[in-house]
Amino acid sequence: MRILIWYRNDLRLHDHQPLHRALEAHSQVIPVYCFDPRQFGQTAFGFAKTGAYRAEFLRQSVADLRQAWRDRGSNLLIRRGQPEDVIPELVQRLDIDAVYGSEEITAEEKAIDQALIDQFKALQVSYQTYWGATLYHPNQLPFDLADLPDVFTQFRQAVEKSSQVSETLPTPERLPALPEDIDPGELPALEDLGLEPKPIDPRAVLPYQGGESQGFERLQHYFWQADQLKFYKETRNEMLGADYSSKFSAWLALGCLSPRYIYEQVQVYKANRVSNKSTYWLVFELLWRDFFRFVCAKFGDRVFYKSGIRGLDIDWKQDWERFEKWQQGKTGFPLVDANMREIAATGYMSNRGRQNVASFLTKNLGIDWRMGAEWFESLLIDYDVCSNWGNWNYVAGVGNDARGFRYFNIPKQSKDYDPEGEYVKHWLPELKPVPASKVHKPWQLSSEEQKRYDVRLGVNYPNPVVDLEKSFKANEKVYTAAQERAA
Ligand SMILES: Cc1cc2nc3c(=O)[nH]c(=O)nc-3n(C[C@H](O)[C@H](O)[C@H](O)COP(=O)(O)OP(=O)(O)OC[C@H]3O[C@@H](n4cnc5c(N)ncnc54)[C@H](O)[C@@H]3O)c2cc1C
Repeated sequence: MRILIWYRNDLRLHDHQPLHRALEAHSQVIPVYCFDPRQFGQTAFGFAKTGAYRAEFLRQSVADLRQAWRDRGSNLLIRRGQPEDVIPELVQRLDIDAVYGSEEITAEEKAIDQALIDQFKALQVSYQTYWGATLYHPNQLPFDLADLPDVFTQFRQAVEKSSQVSETLPTPERLPALPEDIDPGELPALEDLGLEPKPIDPRAVLPYQGGESQGFERLQHYFWQADQLKFYKETRNEMLGADYSSKFSAWLALGCLSPRYIYEQVQVYKANRVSNKSTYWLVFELLWRDFFRFVCAKFGDRVFYKSGIRGLDIDWKQDWERFEKWQQGKTGFPLVDANMREIAATGYMSNRGRQNVASFLTKNLGIDWRMGAEWFESLLIDYDVCSNWGNWNYVAGVGNDARGFRYFNIPKQSKDYDPEGEYVKHWLPELKPVPASKVHKPWQLSSEEQKRYDVRLGVNYPNPVVDLEKSFKANEKVYTAAQERAA
């Protein structure tokens, strides 16, 4: 029996059910990764669908996976083209009996699945997918997916009470050699994918490197060498530096790290180092990730609609002039600008930053949240379709936030999370001479202070693009009107 393992967002050997099942069946196993040109096209609003930072991380992850297969006596096939062309062609040429892969649940991925299923039927090849992206398997939930609670807290309490995380599956030591006449294929260069290489800014939180081995290394560092897990709950809302949070998201998004592996390591840490609120909280955050995946499974395409999963018909603006100020970090609000410059220069932004800039875009500028979601999709190294679109639904107020019009007060957030102004000065060097007490509100600098600190409003740092208070109130009215129409 010959089984083709089709890799997508599951680029690892550990805890990999399709591979585990194929090896259990004592089959000849042939793994393939396919670079799909559609992933390197454009989003609906015209941004690069996969920007250079994530594309590079993906290349590194595929290269690392190939090395892992080679180290065990086999090799990973690499192809370029649409999977619905490439995979059936391989199936026929290599006389494959079955194709195994990981289950995907969102529209683009499911459309590819459907096209494949139709062809596999004609070829009489079986196609088996396994769920492997979350801590909990849908079968382990104490409710059917259709009855998933709409509010995170209810979901969390239910799984914490009734569900168990399964053990990880082992990493195989040896892998069966490939048949001799197969061309393994070349790893494409960024240019082959239509992208210019773009070095990550040295001010980035991490010099990200993709791949399972790098994911393991990051965990080793964060949990065991730097021993930072025990402080996670206190530091997770910071914005500056490598270790205020785990930074696991990029490896999780491509499946280089299994969430169940992280969970197991948390248990080992609890047994050997300390068990405290922080060790609990990391798993709590992984549950958010699970939740958004299950939300996408339950609500299907609604997560991508302008009206979101709630179906709220809000009168969003598509104001490109203001949107570009947001994109470029030129809104005149240092916390927003610093975060937007960070994501543009590195492909990463902290969770605190993401919440603030998303709130600003939707609640102050009143701009169509999907433009923001697509901009994030383009840039983020850790882009994950469910976490990104689920969180944007949530922050825009069209998702499952029980609080409706949740608004982040930018000056207050700046004071609470960047009291010394270190973060904003890191990304906005033009504000470096301004004292901490004034740096978050440059629009209040007198002309004399502007001279003293060499900050000229409207010249080397922008005037605020909106009045925070007025814009928030105006957009709240628009939101409330939509809620009333829906009631
Ligand atoms: C508007 C917006 C868009 C986002 N887009 C993405 C995205 O595309 N990909 C992505 O992985 N995360 C996304 N997040 C969630 C979160 O910001 C990142 O997961 C987190 O900042 C990654 O850094 P970390 O790994 O150091 O997180 P940590 O604080 O160390 O958290 C550990 C892990 O928990 C998970 N997690 C934490 N917070 C969330 C959350 N709010 N939702 C879902 N999972 C979470 C992540 O997998 C993360 O790696 C988004 C959040 C917002 C507000």
